[in-house]
Amino acid sequence: MAAPKRVVIVGGGVAGSLLVKLLEDVADVTLIDPKDYFEVPYSSLRCLVEPSFAERSVITHSSYMKKSRLLMGSATDATRTEVTTDTGIKVPYEFLVICTGSEYLGPNSRVDRLDRYQKANRKLVESQGLLIIGGGPVGVELAGEIVSDFPTKKGEASTSITVQSHSSTSDL
Ligand SMILES: Cc1cc2nc3c(=O)[nH]c(=O)nc-3n(C[C@H](O)[C@H](O)[C@H](O)COP(=O)(O)OP(=O)(O)OC[C@H]3O[C@@H](n4cnc5c(N)ncnc54)[C@H](O)[C@@H]3O)c2cc1C
Repeated sequence: MAAPKRVVIVGGGVAGSLLVKLLEDVADVTLIDPKDYFEVPYSSLRCLVEPSFAERSVITHSSYMKKSRLLMGSATDATRTEVTTDTGIKVPYEFLVICTGSEYLGPNSRVDRLDRYQKANRKLVESQGLLIIGGGPVGVELAGEIVSDFPTKKGEASTSITVQSHSSTSDL
C-alpha cells in the first residue's frame, strides 16, 4: 500500500482546523500555526461579556487532533516541495494548503487568551460608558452583546453605548 500523502496546512483557524479533522484519517497531516489553540472567531464578542464562554470556544489544537501533528510557528516561506517556519524548520509536503485568513494579533497560548478575555471583561464591567467605533456587523453585534448582559449600562444614558461609523479598534 502506498504511503499516505504528506499534507501541510498553514494556519489553524476555521478553515485549517476543519481541514485537519477532515484529512487526518487519509493523509499524513502537519498543521503549522503560531498558536496552541483554535478559537471560534464569532464567539469573541460573547467572550468579552461572558469570559467563561471562552472555556468552550477556545480549544487546544491537541484536543481535536488525533493523528496529525502540530508545529507551532509561522510559515515564512514555501517552495514547491517544502515550507519553512520562522524557527527555521523545513517541512516537506506533497500537498500544501494555505489557510492564513486575516491578520491575527492574539496571544499564542490558550491560557493567555482566556486571561485576555477576563481582563477585557473587567474593563467593561468597570466602565461608565462605551464608545464602539465602527457601526458594521461586528460593532452592532458587540453593542447587542453588551446591552443584553449589562442592561444597566444601557439604562445609564442612551448615549453611553454609541455606535459610530468610522474605523474600528478593539481590546480583543
Ligand atoms: C468578531 C467576528 C465575527 C464574525 N462573524 C462571522 C459570522 O457571523 N459569519 C461568518 O461567516 N464569518 C464571521 N466572521 C469571519 C470569520 O471568522 C472568518 O471568515 C473566518 O475566521 C476565516 O477563516 P480562515 O480559516 O480563512 O482564517 P482565520 O480563522 O482567520 O485563521 C487564520 C489562521 O492562520 C494563522 N496564521 C496566520 N498567518 C500564519 C503564518 N504565516 N503561519 C502559520 N499560521 C498563520 C492564524 O494564527 C490563524 O490561526 C467573523 C469574524 C470575527 C472576528
